[in-house]
Amino acid sequence: MNSAYDFLIIGGGVNGTSIAMHLAKMGIGSVAVLEKKGLATGATGRSGAMIREHYLTPELVRMSSQARKFFEEWPKEHGYDINFRKTGRILLFGENDAGSARNNAKMNRAEGVPIETLDAKNVAEMIPDAVLDDIETALFEPEAGYADPVATTYSFASEAIKYGAEIHTDCEVTSIRTRGNRVVGVSTNNGTFDADVVINVTGPWANILLNPLGEELPIEPIRVQMVHMRRPPSLKNLETIVIDHTCGAYYRSDGSPNTLIGGEAPEDMMEITDPNNFGLNADHIFIQRYWSRINRRFPEFRNAICRGGYGSLYDMTPDGNPIVDKSSTIKNLYNVAGFSGHGFKLSPVIGHIVSSFVSGNGPDNEYLNMFKKDRFTTGNQIVPDFPYGNRAHQ
Ligand SMILES: Cc1cc2nc3c(=O)[nH]c(=O)nc-3n(C[C@H](O)[C@H](O)[C@H](O)COP(=O)(O)OP(=O)(O)OC[C@H]3O[C@@H](n4cnc5c(N)ncnc54)[C@H](O)[C@@H]3O)c2cc1C
Repeated sequence: MNSAYDFLIIGGGVNGTSIAMHLAKMGIGSVAVLEKKGLATGATGRSGAMIREHYLTPELVRMSSQARKFFEEWPKEHGYDINFRKTGRILLFGENDAGSARNNAKMNRAEGVPIETLDAKNVAEMIPDAVLDDIETALFEPEAGYADPVATTYSFASEAIKYGAEIHTDCEVTSIRTRGNRVVGVSTNNGTFDADVVINVTGPWANILLNPLGEELPIEPIRVQMVHMRRPPSLKNLETIVIDHTCGAYYRSDGSPNTLIGGEAPEDMMEITDPNNFGLNADHIFIQRYWSRINRRFPEFRNAICRGGYGSLYDMTPDGNPIVDKSSTIKNLYNVAGFSGHGFKLSPVIGHIVSSFVSGNGPDNEYLNMFKKDRFTTGNQIVPDFPYGNRAHQ
């Protein structure tokens, strides 16, 4: 085990390991990931891990399209089983968001995304058990699906190791070490590590390490919840992901007769929390709220069996998009955090752009400019032309 590296990555989630894999493959220096627990034990391991291309700004559409292709091709090319399942994804819109949905679909198609605009009759053919009386329009992404976020993270780590990277788990960074205004390494519960470059990929924990350096990212750790329902046999075939914009809910099968139910309406995301001490189980009131939403759309869910649920974390920024930037105070320290509940699918492209950025080998400016931290003070936040109403992130 070394104690000095060219590149040290703090955080062994899907983004930290993706960055490690991309950097290791570049072969430009030694790479290590330091993870305080096990891999994928942060937001990644409790992710819905849905992979889609539908976004509301052209840059994010291009980024997620690139990532989706990666998820589809990479396991085949490299033999990793990340359980990528192409289920398709239906987005349902009421009167308020129907116009935005049509405009966004037009923009997505112009970017090459095979997304279809449907009316309620078409949707009824696809999900015959749904009640659609309030649906004005719908979109269908046939190429969308989900993957296993834990297997994905381990596969990125395995690939990184193959190219010489080291992964240190149970290794908690207690401080980032500096000399003058430059990073020189980190202190951990397993001793000190030296490094030329340190990349902070700790999601909701990012500010805990930055605050002692006089830096703060506009990220709030928000507790979100997911509920598990065993579907009744009549809904056995409900495999397609359904995003219900009328109430901010999403429903996705896990490949068995279980459906995961999540919520992204503003009222679902009110709990600012301590990332080191938050409720790991779902609250009864959230179980009732999510169950009643899915009952409204699929009345047969009244006969579903609730299997509980869990609490997890979003690292929310004010515009619901990540920060990928140099530290504003310390040279050679980078921050990659604030994925705001949609950072799983972006992870392959994040690995690519961050490895280019920190190595100085041709940064991909389109995305990096967009994700700079100063966008929150210069009025350049990422704001869609046609936002949806009932959603905390777009
Ligand atoms: C319920 C839920 C559903 C979601 N659904 C989707 C979805 O459908 N599609 C999608 O694209 N995204 C989704 N997301 C978001 C996505 O899961 C996250 O954006 C992504 O996993 C973040 O990965 P990360 O590597 O940036 O952070 P994390 O996975 O949070 O990793 C950060 C790591 O840093 C470690 N760490 C923290 N402090 C230290 C320290 N001091 N020293 C060492 N290690 C440290 C933590 O232990 C953790 O493992 C969802 C998230 C949740 C919670």
